[in-house]
Amino acid sequence: MKVPYQKERCDAGAGFLARADVELIPSTGDPEYLIGSGTCPRCSDKVDIHERIHVLDFYGSGSYAYRQYCTCEESHRGRPAEGKGCGAWWPVEVTWSRPDGR
Ligand SMILES: [Zn+2]
Ligand SMILES: [Zn+2]
Repeated sequence: MKVPYQKERCDAGAGFLARADVELIPSTGDPEYLIGSGTCPRCSDKVDIHERIHVLDFYGSGSYAYRQYCTCEESHRGRPAEGKGCGAWWPVEVTWSRPDGR
């Protein structure tokens, strides 16, 4: 039984990245993208992670916070025809430390 579509913050998103399969692109130096896939904490379906990282001064380590939206391909009752996901979003923060810096 699928959860119905509803736009809402999902507070079960803590640890989302730890359970996800992600990588920072490029693999050395300053990251520009966070790419991969994870599991929606609301509907448990697969979601794509494709986030542009906007931070100016890293100096080898840093963090970036963003809103991850559910982008699953499953059907959820009440979803707009052109929409994706179950409507959930949750806060995510990615951190990194790269001694090779810049
Ligand atoms: Zn879903
Ligand atoms: Zn979802």
